[in-house]
Amino acid sequence: MLTLDHHPSGRHFLQIPGPSPVPDRILRAMSLPTIDHRGPEFGVLGLKVIDGLKQVFRTQHPVAIYPASGTGAWEAALVNVLSPGDAVLMVETGHFATLWQKMALRLGLAPEFIALPGTCAETGLPLAWRHGVRADLIAERLRADTGHQIRAVCVVHNETSTGATSDIVAVRRAIDDAGHPALLLVDTISGLASADYRHDEWGVDVTVSGSQKGLMLPPGISFNALSPKALAASKTAKLPKAFWAWDEIVEMNKTGYWPYTPNTNLLYGLHEALDMLLGQGLDVVLERHQRWAEGVRGAVRAWGLPIQCADPAVYSPVLTGVITPEGLDADALRRLIHERFDLSLGTGLGKVRGRMFRIGHLGDCNDLTLMAALSGVEMGLKLAGVKLAGSGVAAAMDYFAAHNAPRPLAAAA
Ligand code: PLP
Repeated sequence: MLTLDHHPSGRHFLQIPGPSPVPDRILRAMSLPTIDHRGPEFGVLGLKVIDGLKQVFRTQHPVAIYPASGTGAWEAALVNVLSPGDAVLMVETGHFATLWQKMALRLGLAPEFIALPGTCAETGLPLAWRHGVRADLIAERLRADTGHQIRAVCVVHNETSTGATSDIVAVRRAIDDAGHPALLLVDTISGLASADYRHDEWGVDVTVSGSQKGLMLPPGISFNALSPKALAASKTAKLPKAFWAWDEIVEMNKTGYWPYTPNTNLLYGLHEALDMLLGQGLDVVLERHQRWAEGVRGAVRAWGLPIQCADPAVYSPVLTGVITPEGLDADALRRLIHERFDLSLGTGLGKVRGRMFRIGHLGDCNDLTLMAALSGVEMGLKLAGVKLAGSGVAAAMDYFAAHNAPRPLAAAA
């Protein structure tokens, strides 16, 4: 075991795939005094953040904001549109899809959990945890459901435990081609504002998201973006709901208020985050995430380690999962890197615990924070005795130097 000579001076490198680093601008905005949530200024703030959020979700329809972590917004999505015992089709893409399915069970729903079968010959890991959703499996299952028992299809857009995204357009097409009336519920808790996402255009009924990832906020608020079909379903759905019920929230949100005490200071932060994201241009923000992701993947390839997501068509722009060599405990490596270099990496979750770690490249990053993170990983791998094929740091430097960062709207004008 190596000696621990870690000195917590300088900044900490928070490179987990959320919570992501909170920019100073947002921290300062959140430090303003809390105001009366029934007073006149609050309504202005409420209307502004709801309008900005709609632009980020790319929707014309209501977005409910909860003072809760993403898990709360998962529950809100299910209880507002479903009734006890309803059949729900869910797809195993990783740890978060599994947790959502467990929640559906606890709520008294009847989730059917389908997965890409088989294990990967190279790593022994489940194939389902290295790929996105296979829309053809959904289509096949829905076509067999001639009585239309399945009330909703639930999919995780950016599976934070694996670094694979899912093609939501293909899932929508699978539902439509099967002529099936099921609602489409999508979790983009870690995708929003980092990966392309279009609630209206993609025909999603409920989108679930959270504050602590691409929105660059601390954890603590989460969202449901709704469709008219979801709102209609909520009128007859019978699962018990009170705090999560959309009706009162949507009604009061029309004037910028909430039926309970909202998280005022996080809403200040959200206001600032929206100003940053929309001011820079959402497309620019998404493009820079793609570029960071490609730089980081270049490093992993240069090290000669497998990327957790085995399908390049669905690589996540938010995080990269790195599979460690057989016999090396990925969590021991993470601990070593944290102790020596004050760098936090994401742990392997569920079925991939100990076999991989995750590098977050979302939110308030830049080329140099990522270069620092990759340096920490490369030093850690060497200290752990891994024989690297080459220098990932050198590969990423070459990539970032050769590919200009996309320019914010204001600078490009
Ligand atoms: N879904 C996904 C894809 C996530 O990444 C997370 C958290 O990381 C969650 C759900 C759960 O959200 P929370 O931890 O904010 O409750």
